[in-house]
Amino acid sequence: MAIFDRTVDVDVVVAGGGTAGCAAAIAAARRGHRVLLVEESNCLGGVSTTGGVNEWFASLEGLGDIFARVVRELDAFGARFGRFYNPEYLKIVWQLMVEEAGVEVLFHASVIDAVAGDGQVHRVRVVACSQAIEVTARYFIDATGEGDLAALAGAQFMLGDPATGRTLHMSLTCLLHDTGQPVTPYLPPGLSPIDRPEDLPGLRTYHRLPDGRVYCNMTKVMAYDPTDPFDLSAAEREARRQLIRTVHYLQRFHYPTYMLCASGAKIGIREGRRILGDYVLTEADITGAGPRDQADGVAVGTCQIDFHSLTQAGDAGRRQRVEPYAIPLRCLIARGFANLLMAGKCASGDQVAQSSFRMTPTCCAMGQAAGTTAALALESAADNIRAVDITRLRGELTAAGMELDPARHQAFAP
Ligand SMILES: Cc1cc2nc3c(=O)[nH]c(=O)nc-3n(C[C@H](O)[C@H](O)[C@H](O)COP(=O)(O)OP(=O)(O)OC[C@H]3O[C@@H](n4cnc5c(N)ncnc54)[C@H](O)[C@@H]3O)c2cc1C
Repeated sequence: MAIFDRTVDVDVVVAGGGTAGCAAAIAAARRGHRVLLVEESNCLGGVSTTGGVNEWFASLEGLGDIFARVVRELDAFGARFGRFYNPEYLKIVWQLMVEEAGVEVLFHASVIDAVAGDGQVHRVRVVACSQAIEVTARYFIDATGEGDLAALAGAQFMLGDPATGRTLHMSLTCLLHDTGQPVTPYLPPGLSPIDRPEDLPGLRTYHRLPDGRVYCNMTKVMAYDPTDPFDLSAAEREARRQLIRTVHYLQRFHYPTYMLCASGAKIGIREGRRILGDYVLTEADITGAGPRDQADGVAVGTCQIDFHSLTQAGDAGRRQRVEPYAIPLRCLIARGFANLLMAGKCASGDQVAQSSFRMTPTCCAMGQAAGTTAALALESAADNIRAVDITRLRGELTAAGMELDPARHQAFAP
């Protein structure tokens, strides 16, 4: 037994300090609840910071006061350029907002086990600094992106294409900086050069931002399972090989004075487990001609279907504009559990719907909704998250700047 074992008790545990987790933790803590935010990395923001993403895909209005504050703070730093931003500043913004709300943050900490029974999660086990910490709570919010907490608790989940299990590809993003003089592109032996844009492994996304950095999202690592430890490590290695090949390409054809200066701290995972909720948002829900509103809508998705080909390299895939649609609270409640919510890209949806609602701004709105729901459940002494009064919840979210009527949002398709 570890000599430093200890137990912590809080009202709400939020697993994962990415976008959804930060928003969930802030929403619950600012109402006076004791919230522990458990994060594997040394900073907040998840894929939108440590994953090296510099860009938002969604209409940016009406997503709640938490996202609006993020935008304002980045603007104050001069670190936002339309839908692009500098993730180093985003790490600071999230940290200060989380501290202001009174959230307790545990960095370098992984949720590695969950004890559940009788339709309740009772506690989670966290490891940090090689020490085990048991955390008990009334409500648990899984914002790990890959649905780790819910899976550990025994919740059902979906993973990848129903036929093949393939998830959307992973990517390691990078930044280039201008040295002001010609550089000598170099490719180590064993790595093949890329000479034509059509041979690039992934998206041809390279943008020179107003602050002088070049943001590149060009690698495509397919057919690895992001929830399998060995697959994930193999994906990281494959991504870095692709990354140096794409940098070599960019130096020869586009940026002859630029050098690589940073890459994502971890490979970016677009899709992991999608936890089965009381409702599964489907492709038909977001593309159909029917009503886009739902009586228990707690967030609105606006982004196009952004479904990269699961089998072809390059930028092949399906991009389809969709009209704004409601994300029901039922997609944020784990089926069969009274006190387990999920928010962000691991929410309950089919693979196509997830390719739209996985976008960062939408994850923020889902997080705010999940945290507010947990707070209302605590305040009403409900013993089941489903007992929360939906009219009251929607009223609280609206008062906090969230526009819940999909018809009042703009569709986003760049
Ligand atoms: C390469 C790439 C490009 C993208 N481009 C865009 C774009 O242009 N625009 C856009 O809007 N969106 C984009 N996305 C999607 C978007 O960035 C993510 O889907 C979104 O940020 C996910 O937020 P999240 O909070 O759900 O999860 P995450 O950001 O993944 O956060 C989950 C957090 O949980 C932590 N964690 C995981 N497991 C555990 C555990 N067991 N214990 C403790 N902590 C844990 C992780 O460290 C992480 O910080 C992109 C994604 C990728 C991968």
